[in-house]
Amino acid sequence: MIDLAARPRTPLAFLPTPLHRLPRLEDELGGPRLLVKRDDQTGLGLGGNKTRKLEFLVGAALAQGADVLVTAGAAQSNHCRQTAAAAAALGLDCHLLLGGAPPARPDGNLLLDHLLGATVHWCGSERKGERLAAVVGALSEAGRRPCEIPYGGSNATGALGYVVAMQELKEQLDVAGQRVDAIVFASSSGGTQAGMAVGMRACGLDAELVGIRIDKEEVAGHGYPGQLAGLANATAQLAGLDARFDVDDFVIEEGYLGGGYGVVGAAEREAIGLFARREGLLLDPVYTGRAAAGLLDLVRHGRFDRDATLLFWHTGGAPALFPYAGELVAS
Ligand SMILES: *Cc1c(COP(=O)(O)O)cnc(C)c1O
Repeated sequence: MIDLAARPRTPLAFLPTPLHRLPRLEDELGGPRLLVKRDDQTGLGLGGNKTRKLEFLVGAALAQGADVLVTAGAAQSNHCRQTAAAAAALGLDCHLLLGGAPPARPDGNLLLDHLLGATVHWCGSERKGERLAAVVGALSEAGRRPCEIPYGGSNATGALGYVVAMQELKEQLDVAGQRVDAIVFASSSGGTQAGMAVGMRACGLDAELVGIRIDKEEVAGHGYPGQLAGLANATAQLAGLDARFDVDDFVIEEGYLGGGYGVVGAAEREAIGLFARREGLLLDPVYTGRAAAGLLDLVRHGRFDRDATLLFWHTGGAPALFPYAGELVAS
């Protein structure tokens, strides 16, 4: 067990998030036992996985005296919306660098960014924070104390949120006398998967981590597994855990990238509809809908034993359902 008490952490999430079964979906699939971990219910500004990362990222920002948070993402970024909510809750300003151009009518996460009082900078094709340094520099020059929150909140500090989350899951499973064989979730900027891997080592939870890749854009250097290994090693070091990770420690399913980032296809539509109609559980069009489509496909192809227990980690994102209305429901 590791002790993260020395790391600055600002409480932002309602924890622990619920863990429950999906009995009607189990029946539908005739297959493995299914649990869901509800990180869509972390609470802050409609919740999601970034809130766990932000507890440590904002903790570090406050410790260094920041008065404005600056981050970047797609126009419908859940990370940006949760960062804007964290800033609002703590009396900080927030600047968001969003990909694309301003739509005629703000909707979904973008609507919430505005309601939460964030200042939006439109960045065209640069949706991954290419202009962060420039905006941070300009704010500093204007006498502000900006703190840059990385794209997706995915650095070692942010990943600590998922180190802690695995301890939380372990405790819930122990109390319930349950075990899980595999954990399936959406993996994109990597902080979630890297943090989970470190957290599992730290607390001795033994299950297969199956990341469903969401965004195919190649990352510099060694590709996505290399990026995850590097991030996990940095996270372990920060957590004071004596553990090493390499590319073989990461299972990533690359077969569900569909039409690319943010493009809803038949597979995502089916998964979103099935979870909604069978369980009253709302997924999102960009991340969890795609991850659930991957889960369904893997189950249908016999990737898991029929008597295994799978955990679907719901990472949030439902505010983006609304701007995708036209792609989700035939009118
Ligand atoms: C950001 C996000 C993810 C991916 O998490 P990473 O840590 O970036 O891999 C998954 N689901 C939702 C809803 C997200 O907003």
